[in-house]
Amino acid sequence: MLARILLLLAALFAVPAAAETIIVHAGHLLADPSRPEAGPSTITIVDGRITAVTAGLQAPPQGARLVDLSAKTVLPGLIDAHVHLTAVPGEAFWQEAVNTDEYYALVGAHNALTTLRAGFTTVRDLGSGPQNGFALRRAIEQGLVPGPRMLAAGQALSVIGGHGDVSGYRPEVMAALDGHNTCTGADQCAARVREAARNGADVIKFHATGGVLSQGDKSLGQAFSDAEMKAIIDTAHNLGLKVAAHAHADAGIAAAVRAGVDSIEHGTFASPATIRLMKARGTVLVPTLMAFTGIRERLGKGIYTPTVEDKVRMTLGEVGKAARLAHENGVPIVFGTDAGVYEHGRNAGEFAELVARAGLSPAEAIASATTAAAHLLGLDSEVGRIAPGFSADLIAVDGDPLKDVRILEHVDYVMVKGRTAP
Ligand SMILES: [Zn+2]
Repeated sequence: MLARILLLLAALFAVPAAAETIIVHAGHLLADPSRPEAGPSTITIVDGRITAVTAGLQAPPQGARLVDLSAKTVLPGLIDAHVHLTAVPGEAFWQEAVNTDEYYALVGAHNALTTLRAGFTTVRDLGSGPQNGFALRRAIEQGLVPGPRMLAAGQALSVIGGHGDVSGYRPEVMAALDGHNTCTGADQCAARVREAARNGADVIKFHATGGVLSQGDKSLGQAFSDAEMKAIIDTAHNLGLKVAAHAHADAGIAAAVRAGVDSIEHGTFASPATIRLMKARGTVLVPTLMAFTGIRERLGKGIYTPTVEDKVRMTLGEVGKAARLAHENGVPIVFGTDAGVYEHGRNAGEFAELVARAGLSPAEAIASATTAAAHLLGLDSEVGRIAPGFSADLIAVDGDPLKDVRILEHVDYVMVKGRTAP
């Protein structure tokens, strides 16, 4: 009897589940922002993957589900290359002594859905607690929590007392809160990168300079030595991981670029010479202009400490200048916002910032959040375009985002991996 039941079970599981076919009718289709927009189009999706894109509105085959976006413009799901899903905007620095990693994991689950609903179907999380970023990535992958596809850095690497290290408390408290994410000297920094890879990091993030919102570091200048940066980047590259460097001051940006970093995050004070170096080395700039929108909105309201307010005031006047220079010099710009510094879900505000402050055309701004971002994330053949073979990640908006990028701030429909966002 038991043998018969087992045989029956085996037979049941051997039957392949019927493929799920979805037909999407698009009124206008921007399949690839480097190409002209198409008129009415039909996208065929089988089991979460795009299998065909054809002109005109084709009737769905029998058994297929129709998603009718024929009154809308359809474009690839957006990519934000710099978020902190587990971060709360404007949180007092001492909150990290109160809130647990587990609490922030739940914050991250909430923010993941908010981000997805805003049209972002892929994010690169550049800094979380030791485990909560990885746990969130896993829960999203397993379908336990709705959210965007997530590449996670885990904890960013920092110098002792610098941006990203615990600071502003008495020594015993700092010892208790230490995330063991600091390193000194090339060997220890290489070891930290290997530990991050062992913990599941998709990308390595390090703080090449001081930061604006941290208590401990008084300047925005270079933090890691040239040798430490080289050790971090070479070790990561040997493990097949790309490296993102948080960097504000020019010397720190230049040092990270010379050491071979893949992307500079923020890049606020980059000089013309450093911009030319980035162009020569093929280094990407992720300007995160929305971070400064969030900071501007909070300045002078008693949210930041006087130490932080001083750093904010010396930075705000420079915001966007390096991005404009980089764009003029042909440095690749990738869309990243530092969500968590401002409210999650407002990510698309970066489009108007890139157009107004950095001089990108709407098409270039959209490319920065689709094809260019997919390339930086190493997902060129998976996301960033609506084409056969790609993951069925798409969004729909009312109107033409090539005329007004602010249209992308109101996304009407989101699909990730063939599933409609809840
Ligand atoms: Zn950040």
